[in-house]
Formats: sequence, C-alpha cells, structure tokens
Amino acid sequence: MSELAYKRTNVYETADKEKMEKIFAYAEGYRTFIDEAKTEREACVFVEEEAKKNGYKPFKFGMKLQAGDKVYYNNRGKNIFLIRVGNEDVGEYGVRVIASHIDSPRVDLKQVPLYEAEGIAFAKTHYYGGIRKYQWAAIPLALHGSVVKADGSKVEVKIGEDESDPVFYISDLLPHLAAKQNAKPLGEGLGGEDLNIWLGNIPYVAAEDDKDKTVKENLLHILNEKYGIKEEDFLSAELSLVPAFKARDIGFDRALMAAYGHDDRVCSYPAYTALFDETSEKHTVLVVLADKEEIGSEGNTGMQSVLLNDLIDEIARAFGASPAAVRANSKCLSADVNAGYDPNFRDVCEPLNSTYLSCGAGLTKFTGSRGKGGSNDASAEFVGEVRKMFSDEGVIWQTGELGRVDMGGGGTVAKFIAKMNIDTVDIGVPVISMHSPYEVISKADLYEAYRAFRAFIK
Ligand code: MN
Ligand code: MN
Repeated sequence: MSELAYKRTNVYETADKEKMEKIFAYAEGYRTFIDEAKTEREACVFVEEEAKKNGYKPFKFGMKLQAGDKVYYNNRGKNIFLIRVGNEDVGEYGVRVIASHIDSPRVDLKQVPLYEAEGIAFAKTHYYGGIRKYQWAAIPLALHGSVVKADGSKVEVKIGEDESDPVFYISDLLPHLAAKQNAKPLGEGLGGEDLNIWLGNIPYVAAEDDKDKTVKENLLHILNEKYGIKEEDFLSAELSLVPAFKARDIGFDRALMAAYGHDDRVCSYPAYTALFDETSEKHTVLVVLADKEEIGSEGNTGMQSVLLNDLIDEIARAFGASPAAVRANSKCLSADVNAGYDPNFRDVCEPLNSTYLSCGAGLTKFTGSRGKGGSNDASAEFVGEVRKMFSDEGVIWQTGELGRVDMGGGGTVAKFIAKMNIDTVDIGVPVISMHSPYEVISKADLYEAYRAFRAFIK
C-alpha cells in the first residue's frame, strides 16, 4: 500500500521477541490488580498501598506542595487521586490529568434484602450500571462490600473468592420449561426483580424452641456468628454481587485476557503504573480513579464532584498561579474502554471506524449518540497534539467510535472534565462483551495504553 494511505498496525504482528515479553509480563501485574480489586473500594485500598510503596504521602488540604512532591488523596475509600508535582510552571503549562473509573456494573443487595420462599433463603437486589440481566444468572457470584453496624463500626465482607468459600447464585429456567421465556425479547428474559440471590436452604433448629424454625432465621444466626451483624445492619450496608471468576488467558496463543470489570480497571491500571514508572519530572501529573461512572458520575465520589476542581485550585495556590490559568492550560486523557470490533456481531460495527483487538490503544474523538449528542468531541488541534506525543514515543494506537451511527452509543467522564476548560480526549483499551460478567481485552492493547499514558506525561 502507498505511503500516503492510512492503515492500522497490529501490535503482535510488529513486536519483536523483547516487546512480546514485555507485553506478557505487564499483563501479569494487571492480573493481580484485576483479581484483587473487584469493587471501587477494593481498588482504592490496592492503589493506596501501591502509592505508598512508590513514596506517595497522604495529601491534606492547605498543605504546602513543592516540585517533586508525590501525594495521594483517598476520597471516602471509593475514589483516589494521585498527584506528582513537576518542575515546570503550572500557571503556564497546567496539569496533565489521566482520568479513569474503578466502579463496574454489578448486582447490589437492597437495603432490606432477606426473605424466605418455600424453604429457600434469598436476597433481593438492585442492579448497578448497564447490565444485560440474563447474563448474570447461573454463574458463580461473590459477595463484596461493607456493613456499618448500629455502633458505627464497620465490617468488611469478601466471600466467594477463595476456592474453599461458598459462592452465590441467581437461577434461570431449564430449557424444558422455558418455552414462554424463550418467546420474550432477550432483554426481558429476566426482570430486575428476578435477580434474587440464593443464600441458604437449612432451617434453624433451636434446642428447645422451634417457633423460629426457618431458613432465614438460620441465616441470621450464621451472619451474626461470622460478622456480628443483625438484619437491621443491612440498612447501612453496601454489599455487591460480582462474578467469582478469576482473570484467565483466552485462546491457545494467550493473546487475550478475560476478567470481570476490565471496564474500566483495564485503563486504571496503566494510568497509575504509567505515573509510577515515568521518571520525567517535567509535568505536574494528576491521576484520578473515580467511582460511579457506571451510574452517571454522580455523587461526591464521582467525576462530577467539585473535588477535581478543588485539587487543581490547591495546586495553583501552592505556586501562586491563577487557578483559571492552570485549568485552561491543563490537558486530560479520559481513559475509558471502547467497544472492540467483534466479527460475530458485524452489523453493529462500522469497519473503518472501529477499534480492533491488538491494534493498540483506542482513541475516541467523540462518544455520544444520535448525531454525537452528549459528547465531548475533542478538537482536531488537541487530537493532533496527542497524536504527536504518541508518534514521538512510537505508541501504537488507533481510532474508533462506539458502534455504527444511530445503533446506540454511550458516554464517558470526558465531558465533565472538558467542562472545567480542560482539553480532553477519550483513549483506552478495546473490550469485547463489555458490561458482561466476563469481558475480554488484548494484552497488547493494555500495554500500548500504558505506553500512551507514559508518552502523555513524559
Ligand atoms: Mn467505562
Ligand atoms: Mn461501562
């Protein structure tokens, strides 16, 4: 093909032996993170530990920041900021921001969850984020979260991850009796109120008293023994069911990796490891790992909170710079996943403008739906600037939209950061089966996302 034409580059096709080894080694670090951190709370704990190991100190509002400082701010255990102060003037050059999210779609327990039906104890749920409900039945689920008791003390729950733990379960119909269900549209096969969690089947048998001889009563005794909690404590609890699967390689060549919650921890991991590994001290860098993206980035731990703005103000103040000038000169990579091209579902993809697995980090100029509605739509100038940063470092990247025009669409945190007068563009890792219990990515794309973030903060 002529040198004038554009063609995507396949990372594996062009990698030498040394690069192949780097790609596969980097994926092993990610495997540990994705298996340990299945909720935003667990991701915060994990990243805070990693930050401390890399010399980061807790940030306090009003503290004096200096060039070379490395600080983190753990916002309520659900959202974490990492800041490394650089040498260049923040008033003139702003802050390099990399933003991703650490929450993923899942099934949450309701606040009054427990009930019994025909000798089986169940929990009621309310799903979190955009799930296809039928995918969450008949798979092993683990229970993760926190319970705040009447005295204010907190109990952490994580059960179903250890091989010897029990797991939890949502049932589905047997094909023999599913004729009626099969006739429904796929999206209605299981309803929101059908996602009830199987919890137990043994009735409580007290020594002398059998008036409470129920499975639910037995369950309450087990919970009280194990966690010291009562039924009322669920009122102030956040408990989530997540797939109990561990990350596994896919296929004979191990090019791909399946896991729960690649969206968006597959971008969070390269964001914070790029910060730790990049030794250039020029730019002031802020990595934010946010909560609540899957439900609209709301709340005081989501990207729409004023906290990012407050932190940039603090950085400006520390150097006597105008906060407005710092924001105006800042640049942001909104690090989120895109839909990878899936040859099994060609009709929803537009082949020229899709991100392909193993063709590098996927840059998305605009998201949104129906005529780019609700999208940040990065400027050609900013895409050009980022493109140059990547080409200077030999980063392999591609571009793609989220599916065919008018097929659907989606959004990211990009627009909330752009609103602060910061140039922002979306970039991340292409994902197959997004929002399902077991999503798939390419290890090559994960590695190129890491290289892209390093190029951006170098
Ligand atoms: Mn996402
Ligand atoms: Mn998502």
